[in-house]
Amino acid sequence: MKIITIIKKNKLIVLMLVVYLILFIVSPEKAVQSLDNSIYYLIEMFQILPVIFLFTVVIEALIPKELIMQGFGEKSGIKGNLFSLLLGSISAGPIYAAFPISKMLLKKGASVTNIVIILSAWAVIKVPMLANEVKFLGVKFMGIRWIFTVISIFVMAHLIGVFVKKKDMSESITEKEGSILSIKEEYCIGCGLCAKTLPVYYEMKNNKAIIKQIPINKNEMEDMVEMVERCPVNAIVFYRTVEEEII
Ligand code: SF4
Repeated sequence: MKIITIIKKNKLIVLMLVVYLILFIVSPEKAVQSLDNSIYYLIEMFQILPVIFLFTVVIEALIPKELIMQGFGEKSGIKGNLFSLLLGSISAGPIYAAFPISKMLLKKGASVTNIVIILSAWAVIKVPMLANEVKFLGVKFMGIRWIFTVISIFVMAHLIGVFVKKKDMSESITEKEGSILSIKEEYCIGCGLCAKTLPVYYEMKNNKAIIKQIPINKNEMEDMVEMVERCPVNAIVFYRTVEEEII
């Protein structure tokens, strides 16, 4: 039973091991090549990700939610879109480094549209990439590609913002009626206090709290604020994305 639980929790790793095993049996040469590539990318990730996590934690601790909501939130409008384009364009590092930062920005109130702009700019119009493009393909090619890419990014980001909501992206972020409730999974120690105190809103899954629903009326919100304060490790985040902030 314990083995099945471990396999269920690490489905991707198990799948990768099975693929490697099959590859080693069918074509050992290709398996060795593939292993070489995997090790190369793993080393790259281990070099980059600690810095990114540190950077994410520093932003999370130092930059207030209101500032992120003003700069990148639902109400930030075209200014937020341009900030996001700038942030994605001046970033450094591979695209996978953008995901923890995007998740943190989402939790702090950034809109889905602006996250798509940051990720897309990071992936295809980073400044170092543009400089290299000029070197190999010329200014005209780079300029025209940049213009059409930016237009496409804006159209795509606004369409995704219409169809994808925060609640679709992570079970630990729930947004409704202008409120966001989220659990910082990495902080939650699984004490179960929130699920015992407010079972309507929280439940435990794999020893972590997850959100069942978000409070809407004033009394429910007051209960929620009290629970946020009682969490022993400050893992619960609850605030309004419109009107006044509650916590
Ligand atoms: S009270 Fe906090 S630490 Fe305890 S389960 Fe809930 S979110 Fe996790």
